[in-house]
Amino acid sequence: MRLEAFVPRAGRAYSRERNYDRGPGRHTAVSTLSPWIRHRLILEQEVVAAVLAHHSLSAAEKFVQEVFWRTYWKGWLELRPGVWDDYRVRVTELVDELDRDAGLHDRWRAATGGTTGVDCFDAWSQELAQTGYLHNHARMWFASIWIFTLELPWELGADFFLRHLLDGDPASNTLSWRWVAGLQTRGKTYLARRANIARFTEGRFDPAGTLSTTAAALPSGPMPLPVAPPEPALPGRGLRSGLLVTEEDLGPGLSRRDYAAADRVAVLTATGRRSPFGVSPRVQAFAEGAVDDTLRRGGLTAAVRVDHANTNDSVGRIVAWAVDRRLEQLVTPYVPAGPTAEATAELAEALAAKAIKLVPVLRDWDRRAWPHATHGFFPFRKQIPALIRGIGSAASGAQAVTR
Ligand SMILES: Cc1cc2nc3c(=O)[nH]c(=O)nc-3n(C[C@H](O)[C@H](O)[C@H](O)COP(=O)(O)OP(=O)(O)OC[C@H]3O[C@@H](n4cnc5c(N)ncnc54)[C@H](O)[C@@H]3O)c2cc1C
Repeated sequence: MRLEAFVPRAGRAYSRERNYDRGPGRHTAVSTLSPWIRHRLILEQEVVAAVLAHHSLSAAEKFVQEVFWRTYWKGWLELRPGVWDDYRVRVTELVDELDRDAGLHDRWRAATGGTTGVDCFDAWSQELAQTGYLHNHARMWFASIWIFTLELPWELGADFFLRHLLDGDPASNTLSWRWVAGLQTRGKTYLARRANIARFTEGRFDPAGTLSTTAAALPSGPMPLPVAPPEPALPGRGLRSGLLVTEEDLGPGLSRRDYAAADRVAVLTATGRRSPFGVSPRVQAFAEGAVDDTLRRGGLTAAVRVDHANTNDSVGRIVAWAVDRRLEQLVTPYVPAGPTAEATAELAEALAAKAIKLVPVLRDWDRRAWPHATHGFFPFRKQIPALIRGIGSAASGAQAVTR
């Protein structure tokens, strides 16, 4: 298994080597686990526990911190869901602008097609489209060149990533692009520098004279204040329940055997809704395969399976099924901000009209970590030892929540 194979390299070797982007097929200094973590086919706590069974926390500190960056970004966006909504609105506006502004359209086409003439950028653009993965350092350089050299809107870059990354994630992606643009840590931008690229690509690229040498933070409004984190609640006891499976959390935790009867399980996906342009066939296939795998491992058959991007009246079909089965509640692993949450918000409303509750179950890992994502990563990081101490109880624990 990919995690087992990587664990021996997650200690000091990772801290030493992780920043090197050695090119497609040679990303061995990092785990490349992100598509599985993104869909929670592997849980963050499972990754951290496996690594700490092999290394001390001080040896594996860098790797563990990177995993917690994901938890932090998820929590940060949960506390400020309006940042995702604003991003969605802006992408829609920009899609219209692409139709109206031929110059913008041509520059965007060159960037997404890998034909800008900036060699390293074009190579990363093609690697992303062909493999569905980019090294973290390449993502940072790419986003920086997109914003400060090519002067393209950051939201279109984030959208390009979401169309092609197998690990495309509303929180990690949107907030990392904002971070590069200087919107996340106010006024602090990330500038891609020629020497840094040459060093960490081991000379594969040396973009002399082609990159912007300045990176002024993009203008921004006030930082939104955090809302209250999701609060634990429990599914009603003794109610006739169904299970809703989404691509957001396919990990263990819910007692799936409670729903093993074929007429008790529904699947709702929204992969194609990550972007107004849809997603690449590779991204679609990975997400569908992840759902199939989870159903198979859980011995579940979906009575109804709808794709919010492609099925007519997807929400209506689930509601009709739930009514037909006389369900009183539909239990689902918690769905964080993003396209799937947009779909489940519609579903919750339609179910409520039929007196059926949608009950999102929150993992203990998220319940304990997310409330700390109120400020920057550095205060959050201080909580890591305490969060790790609770790992045993968080490994399978989950609680239902209401907003
Ligand atoms: C502009 C930009 C966009 C990004 N978009 C995404 C995205 O859509 N989805 C996504 O999962 N990550 C995203 N990242 C974060 C990071 O680049 C990837 O998680 C990482 O490269 C995945 O490769 P890996 O599994 O080999 O990571 P490893 O280095 O092996 O790290 C282990 C795990 O920790 C988590 N992780 C590592 N670095 C980060 C990070 N900086 N932020 C958040 N989580 C991290 C991932 O789950 C990763 O699988 C983005 C970063 C940037 C700069």
